[in-house]
Amino acid sequence: MSTVNSKHLFERACKVLPEGVSSPVRGPRYFKPYPIYMRKGQGSKLFDVDENEYVDFNMALGPLIHGHAPPTVIEAVKNAMDQGTMLGINQEIEVEVAEKIEQMVPNADLIRFTNSGTEATMHAIRLARGYSGKKKILKFEGHFHGNHDYVLVNIQPPASVLGSRRSPVKIPQGPGIPDETLSNTLVIPWNDTEILEETVKRHKDDLALVITEPVMGNCGLIAPKPEYLKTMREITTENNVLLLFDEVITGFRLAPGGAQEYFKIDADLVTMAKALGAGFPIGAFAGKREIMNALVAEKGNPVHHSGTYNANALCLHAARASLKALTARNGEAYNQLHTIGNRMITGIRKIFKENKVEGIVQGIGPMFQVYFTKLKSINDSRESVTSVDQATYSRFGRELLQRGVFISPIASENWFISTAHSNADVDFGLKAVNASVKALEKTGALPTK
Ligand code: PMP
Repeated sequence: MSTVNSKHLFERACKVLPEGVSSPVRGPRYFKPYPIYMRKGQGSKLFDVDENEYVDFNMALGPLIHGHAPPTVIEAVKNAMDQGTMLGINQEIEVEVAEKIEQMVPNADLIRFTNSGTEATMHAIRLARGYSGKKKILKFEGHFHGNHDYVLVNIQPPASVLGSRRSPVKIPQGPGIPDETLSNTLVIPWNDTEILEETVKRHKDDLALVITEPVMGNCGLIAPKPEYLKTMREITTENNVLLLFDEVITGFRLAPGGAQEYFKIDADLVTMAKALGAGFPIGAFAGKREIMNALVAEKGNPVHHSGTYNANALCLHAARASLKALTARNGEAYNQLHTIGNRMITGIRKIFKENKVEGIVQGIGPMFQVYFTKLKSINDSRESVTSVDQATYSRFGRELLQRGVFISPIASENWFISTAHSNADVDFGLKAVNASVKALEKTGALPTK
């Protein structure tokens, strides 16, 4: 298999783009010896610049809930484009999509559109602070909420500098984030009720918000322990602290109403992006009416949120077509997403067992991750950074690539399923996993039991 055209493109790219990329997760830090350049995507498949074809289990890290170039979404956007790509003023489509979100997502009484997940969490945090009059926010180790300074802390800190569980060392994601900016951000481990309760009680008079991914999706996939989210809800309510579910990954993916619906837990605020636009850049934050009303000017001194591209018409037409498909036929799409995802999860587990691979698969249907680890389960970021073998995972990714399967080679990301994935894709994917495992075992690169 030749990837020589990718190699040449990467050489050109390095002359004009830092690291040769526009986002480091696509770059040479992870894709060795150089990243692959794709030419087009169609359904569950990607095609690279050297005419290689891949079954894509990355799905752009989550947005492509209907696969690449889904015909109904593309057609909707093409039709909308003739009417003007943005009018810079209110349009019926934003009311329609907001109405649809309000019907689908619990506690989304009022909705504001943004252009990304980063913007959604940034504005939701300001709203929580403005509404409550309190300064501090609490986030969890290993959770990622986008690229703004208040939350770019303890994403995947190295094991050697973690500090104690009760009092983690705050580690910004690289230079450029002043300590002062992080002084109002508290950080604790996830899936630990005791530490959560202690911390919320201690800081409740200053604490505006607890922000959490309801399922960790930036540390591989870590599900909440039974009752953890329910207890989180109780603790925040009892202490008058707002609870934000960052559903940028889980929204419209686990269920029509995201993790709130899947786990039957009510959040005060919710952020969405990725699957909302099915490949078009749109996000949203939403919440209970009383809280969202802090954005309303008539109520006096509103919390600020604005943006030139907010509620972009093309993205909204994509969202409308996507949400319509997701809710058609009584939400049949979700049965399909979960069935296909579960086939992959159980299939990989079986291959690992048969080949005595020291590894596990954690997942919820349409999102899952493979970990090379000695542990039987990974329950928080600390267990992930101290036990997961990133180097082996990257090699695994390279073996899969050579067998026509594309994943992110980063152990903290996920495999994503779309409604375009078929049983044939699962069969193809599992065959590639089996062959990759055997190839790695042959070279002694794969830890076995
Ligand atoms: N929140 C979560 C949970 C995410 O996973 C991400 C992106 N991976 C973001 C926020 C930021 O979203 P975006 O990349 O659209 O800015």
